[in-house]
Amino acid sequence: MTAPIIYWFRNDLRCFDLPGLAQAMSSGQPVLPVYILDDTSPGEWQLGSASRWWLHHSLQSLQAELETLGSALVLRRGETREQLAALIQDTGASAVYCSRQYEPWAVQLEQDLHTECSKHDVSLRRFPGSLLFEPEAVRTGSGTPFKVFTPFWKACRKLPEPPAPKKLPSDAYWHQGQIASDKLENWSLTPTQPNWAAGWEQHWQPGSQGALAKLQQFLAGNISQYSEGRNHPALDVTTRLSPHMHFGEISPREVWHAMRPLENDPKMSGEASKFLSELGWREFSHHLLVHFPDIPESPFREPFARFPWEQNAKALESWQRGQTGYPMVDAGMRELWQTGYMHNRVRMIVASFLTKHLRIHWREGQAWFWDTLLDADLANNSCGWQWVAGSGADAAPYFRIFNPITQGEKFDADGEYIRQWVPELSALPNRYIFAPWEAPEEALEKAGVAIGTSYPIPIVEHRVAREAALDAYGTVRAGG
Ligand code: FAD
Repeated sequence: MTAPIIYWFRNDLRCFDLPGLAQAMSSGQPVLPVYILDDTSPGEWQLGSASRWWLHHSLQSLQAELETLGSALVLRRGETREQLAALIQDTGASAVYCSRQYEPWAVQLEQDLHTECSKHDVSLRRFPGSLLFEPEAVRTGSGTPFKVFTPFWKACRKLPEPPAPKKLPSDAYWHQGQIASDKLENWSLTPTQPNWAAGWEQHWQPGSQGALAKLQQFLAGNISQYSEGRNHPALDVTTRLSPHMHFGEISPREVWHAMRPLENDPKMSGEASKFLSELGWREFSHHLLVHFPDIPESPFREPFARFPWEQNAKALESWQRGQTGYPMVDAGMRELWQTGYMHNRVRMIVASFLTKHLRIHWREGQAWFWDTLLDADLANNSCGWQWVAGSGADAAPYFRIFNPITQGEKFDADGEYIRQWVPELSALPNRYIFAPWEAPEEALEKAGVAIGTSYPIPIVEHRVAREAALDAYGTVRAGG
């Protein structure tokens, strides 16, 4: 019997344009597709609650996709090293193929597996395909990694185009023997008591089909207003591809090649370039994570290690629950809680509020996002938080403190986004909805709003908090 190749699925839960799986299938050896739920190897970065919900549905979708191709997906739970070793022993596999991952814990795991596999004369092969450009392929003129986005992206755009996406070979040859597999239902990845994810299926369709539908929908409509519209949360013009991209249900190359021709269309060129540059931020975050693997834990700009962060459990909880008294901040935090997603503009506003108005460590915000975001991604989340906090590579300067009132006036001028997520304010006229505590008593009464009862009093005063933040920043500046 020919020894099989194990295809170890990770954050690449798709069958289209998956170089490692395609290579395994072209080898002439049978292929055994496997997914391992490992809560040990990632250490503190094991999957958050919202990610688990997504994973459950995404695996269901992958199982169905593989079934139409003639294979089951073997599910195992436990430490990857042990589970793969057991599978190699049971099947006599000669090789393990997978896609490369970039998180420091995943890099370590790959090294450990490499050592383990070579002891048993089994090869471990990692394939690219989760990024457009491998982080090592992009270097400054002097050969160092980039720390600033614009020259990074210019350098990427001078590299050869990412390869066009490819189908799997048509003649599938799967491993036939009986292999024990867990049942997905037994992993209890979805919440039950309480089911805080009730209704999420209305917002999301995890899996490759859902990802492709989102991309096609975007290309047929919102792309034409992307560059300006992407700043306005109520317009909802962005793709919402982020959880699909994180779990690898669609390849970045597929997205790239769908968008790239539009750069040659004079009417669409600006929109398409802007969109591709957002994919560029994803590339940049991964480039930083690979070259500066401390980014999830430590400030990229070292002087920020001295920043006098506040410990304030009560304020942190008000922020988490969307009860700060600042409608734009509360709308964002409630959108996150209710849908597992938050619009990018609002992520910046709430992150600025936490790190500057409340002076709570960005790692608290990163941890909350990690647990509640469906697209929680170590590279994008860590870099996003450090960018807003001012401590990151090419970050917004710390003294750029978003004003949560004027940000609302500018990017949610009709108060539509606030009305959707903070319904207790929905009857307030526009001129009061961004700072309801300033509304005259009769306007509040008419709208059925009682500040301090039906909606909170602001937990900090904007001007006072801003001054305190700038003072605290002095300690960072003083050290250079
Ligand atoms: P679109 O505008 O349609 O963009 C298309 C794709 O480009 C996205 O799906 C995403 O993969 C990528 N992208 C867009 N903007 C960014 C960006 N600023 N940084 C990196 N990639 C980007 N994104 C995550 O995927 N996971 C996270 O955990 C995450 N945490 C964040 C935390 C903070 C504090 C901030 C400010 C941003 C964070 N982002 C994160 C980036 C960004 O907010 C989301 O990628 C974006 O809102 C997803 O919506 P979309 O798919 O509709 O984006």
